[in-house]
Amino acid sequence: MSTRYVSWASSVAARSVMRANRKVNTGPELKLRSALHRIGLRFRVLSRPAGLNVKVDILFPRMKVAVFVDGCFWHGCPEHGTTPRTNADYWIPKIERTQHRDVQNDKVLRAAGWEPIHVWEHEPVNLAAERVAAAVQIGSTVNRLGRRPRLEATTLRRR
Ligand SMILES: [Zn+2]
Repeated sequence: MSTRYVSWASSVAARSVMRANRKVNTGPELKLRSALHRIGLRFRVLSRPAGLNVKVDILFPRMKVAVFVDGCFWHGCPEHGTTPRTNADYWIPKIERTQHRDVQNDKVLRAAGWEPIHVWEHEPVNLAAERVAAAVQIGSTVNRLGRRPRLEATTLRRR
């Protein structure tokens, strides 16, 4: 830890970053995962859809639903993504890059027939889980109707 780090720690930006970091595996993501488990959904965690270079937080391969849990600070939440005043030259481009990457990832996913869903870390977990469940439901209906490419079934069996 450098002195630079210590001076950051006093700033609001640094505090939210530290909070966000701590939450990577313990906070909103985990809460959403257990909520989804409770309602009987099964999924893969932190993996990439076959053939795509996009890392997804919660993945429903058969339904082709990709869920991202976005931290308010990193992804620039319009409600409380505070604009960092300290080291703004460093944080703002970083946040903008993250947002840009989000848009690109969604494009890549949609082009491959996936439904990207973004959940804010501030979103009540039950509402988020409902949103995901609805998308998964739609995905499975579409599956039953046979509108998804058959290729997918083979992809799944291979796993
Ligand atoms: Zn937020």
